[in-house]
Amino acid sequence: MPEPLIVFESNVRFVNWHRNVQVEVARLYDAWNRWSDRSRPTTRRWEPGLRALSRIVQHAEADGKRVRALGGAWSLSEAAVTRDYMVNTKPLNYVDVGLKPENVDPAYAGNPEYLVFTQCGTSVLELNRILERRGLALPTSGASNGQTFCGAFSTGTHGAANMVGSMQDYVAGLHVVGEGGRDYWVEPASRPVVSRKFCETLGTELRRDDRLFNALLVSFGSFGLIHAALFMAVPIYLLERHVRPYSYDRVRPSLSTLDVSGLDLPDGRGLPFHYEVVLNPYARRDRQGAYVRFMYQRPYSALPAAPTTTDTRVIMRPSDDVLSVIGAIGDVAPALLPYAVEELLEREFEPQDGELGTPAQAFGSTTLRGSVVSTELGVPLLHAENAVEAVLAVANDFPFAGLAAVRYVRASAALLAFTHHEPFTCTIELPAAGSQRALEAYDRIWNELERRNVPYTLHWGQILKNDPAHFRRAYGTRLDAWLAARRAFLTPAGRRTFSNDLLERAGLAS
Ligand SMILES: Cc1cc2nc3c(=O)[nH]c(=O)nc-3n(C[C@H](O)[C@H](O)[C@H](O)COP(=O)(O)OP(=O)(O)OC[C@H]3O[C@@H](n4cnc5c(N)ncnc54)[C@H](O)[C@@H]3O)c2cc1C
Repeated sequence: MPEPLIVFESNVRFVNWHRNVQVEVARLYDAWNRWSDRSRPTTRRWEPGLRALSRIVQHAEADGKRVRALGGAWSLSEAAVTRDYMVNTKPLNYVDVGLKPENVDPAYAGNPEYLVFTQCGTSVLELNRILERRGLALPTSGASNGQTFCGAFSTGTHGAANMVGSMQDYVAGLHVVGEGGRDYWVEPASRPVVSRKFCETLGTELRRDDRLFNALLVSFGSFGLIHAALFMAVPIYLLERHVRPYSYDRVRPSLSTLDVSGLDLPDGRGLPFHYEVVLNPYARRDRQGAYVRFMYQRPYSALPAAPTTTDTRVIMRPSDDVLSVIGAIGDVAPALLPYAVEELLEREFEPQDGELGTPAQAFGSTTLRGSVVSTELGVPLLHAENAVEAVLAVANDFPFAGLAAVRYVRASAALLAFTHHEPFTCTIELPAAGSQRALEAYDRIWNELERRNVPYTLHWGQILKNDPAHFRRAYGTRLDAWLAARRAFLTPAGRRTFSNDLLERAGLAS
């Protein structure tokens, strides 16, 4: 077999998308679907990429270095970072839509035509385009599309499709390159999907194991380099989008109940497919300051304006991605913050009433890239109102240049999903202009939640608490199961190879 193309730069400065994580990296590898003579295979087009990942792991092991895959570099935490070897996976974007019957386990109950095999580096944007052409869609995604598929689910990325869950929740199987560069197909024993023939074609070893699968789903690079994933797409649908301003007092009763009957929505009392509340923490409670964005799922039909699949701006506004717009506030004096946030939200959240678009058009691209920080809380639905109150109390006591975006998702089975709270997790994202003051506000908010006895988790791709006790409280026996699955899959040397500072600080490395 030919050797894969292996390229790396030494002593590179890595900077993430929002520039809040910067480190010197000993080697930054690029993994390509090319052989060492630069040629690309005409069949098994994924194969050089798989071999490259395997070789890179072997290099790291031989050099006594740690290694970590990098997706789109959109995480605001240090999840993707090590000072040793990092791997840019974005060129690995082979996608195959629909599995042949012989590649599917006879027990698989779903439609094999909706199963999508994707290499790790394919972006959400690329997947949206490919799926739309085939009359399919992602069941859910984040608010915009720059993540790689594997990078997104590895931290538990979610949207506001409350009945669907997060991105990891529609992954059916994973192909991971672990210790020694050996690769494994991992899927749940309780929901087998692929056949032995599928694994023979990949040349991989099949591991059917619920605990391992649920540990690997949200593991931020800690089990190895994930080469590919198999996920379940759905038939394409349309989203009918609305944005309406309310007062906080009017929206408040929905926060812990998801009872939207007081909001006079077009479809009545039913909870929309996508329900999100963006709050100006400084607005008077009886005045406009809560912007409700909701979308109904509608059957697909060709849109009158016939937008192309590359037109991602049809119903997308910059403000859909609260993380991106908030940088615009910049360095405003604390006393002026309430006015700055009010003006930003009024400008960005213009009312909208029923514009239709596909998921690709609804969750489109962002080019905004200010200096931004963000932390995101996950709390059980019942505690949502109390958690929002905690955020508002801190913001009013200690103003910071930020806002709060509240979304809801169904509980995830992934052991370290920050959206594991049953039956629904309320997520409260707190994007802010990058400053020491915002980081201090996050500390105060976490303390206030603890004072109020609100159980909470934190999004792995956003600012995290530097305290192992927090992670133990937040995940309890799920954390023990995750550690046990990792210990069963990797030797102590392997656990070191696939760890980083974040893992050590969270008490997850050993
Ligand atoms: C503008 C913006 C908008 C966002 N919107 C949302 C949102 O709406 N909802 C939400 O939940 N989050 C959101 N986020 C957070 C973001 O979705 C997550 O941080 C996500 O993990 C980033 O994906 P990525 O591809 O950039 O991965 P990276 O940030 O590069 O990596 C994330 C983790 O995945 C691991 N990883 C990546 N590829 C592999 C692989 N092949 N094998 C093993 N491990 C791998 C990395 O090691 C790292 O631990 C947003 C972030 C930004 C900057």
